[in-house]
Amino acid sequence: MTELLYEGKAKRLYSTDQEFVLRVAYKDDATAFNGEKHAVLTGKGQLNNEISTIMFERLAQAGVPNHFIQKISDNEQLVKAVTIVPIEVIVRNIAAGSMAKRLGLEEGRALKQPIVEFCYKRDDLGDPLITVDHVYELELATPEEVSLLTTMALKVNQVLINYFNDFNITLVDFKLEFGRLKETGELVLADEVSPDTCRLWDKTTGERLDKDVFRKNIGNLQEAYGKLLERIGGNA
Ligand code: UDP
Repeated sequence: MTELLYEGKAKRLYSTDQEFVLRVAYKDDATAFNGEKHAVLTGKGQLNNEISTIMFERLAQAGVPNHFIQKISDNEQLVKAVTIVPIEVIVRNIAAGSMAKRLGLEEGRALKQPIVEFCYKRDDLGDPLITVDHVYELELATPEEVSLLTTMALKVNQVLINYFNDFNITLVDFKLEFGRLKETGELVLADEVSPDTCRLWDKTTGERLDKDVFRKNIGNLQEAYGKLLERIGGNA
């Protein structure tokens, strides 16, 4: 028997008959602005499952340890059980979204070097931006882990910049979550890497191939994610 362990905005997490293995089911729900905007978009779960699978496999090949085990159906994958570190690690190459707004920068401005931000993963507080001192005060991670989170996030950035570059796509920014493996305690990349959690722009036309299509009402999300998947060589 498998039981529903957790239901988030975009995924459900189930136990399996193996202690350290969980099943993730990607949902068709799209949310934005901390859940204020919501829609059910048929096919989105399948697209994100497919895209996230490609990303995790690529990252594992490049030496970034992650929780992914295998894709088992259109909208499901098996993953290693982790305890999520309650920090959203954001990496930015180009100013957009909340950083552009907060610092008064024009969206699209190239940053001098990648910027890593930490946010406290707390929906009830709106996932506030925090400093490393806050991380220690709240005991969210140890100094060793903070250093690893930063190194791993920057490595993911390099791997994915190069990956998307080959498909004429700019990686603007993205959000990562990490977890400690329940089996060994090792810190690994977890959650998902998908157009729900990355900003991806066509290098030539600037077309958005990510959730901004939904956030800003500027097109059809499934069409945008489908185009992205087609370009990176997956099967929709
Ligand atoms: N992001 C995310 N989940 C969040 C907040 C941000 O996946 O709860 C991603 C978002 O898709 C973007 C990057 O992190 O690729 C930076 O987001 P930003 O801080 O600009 O916030 P937003 O404009 O999305 O509110």
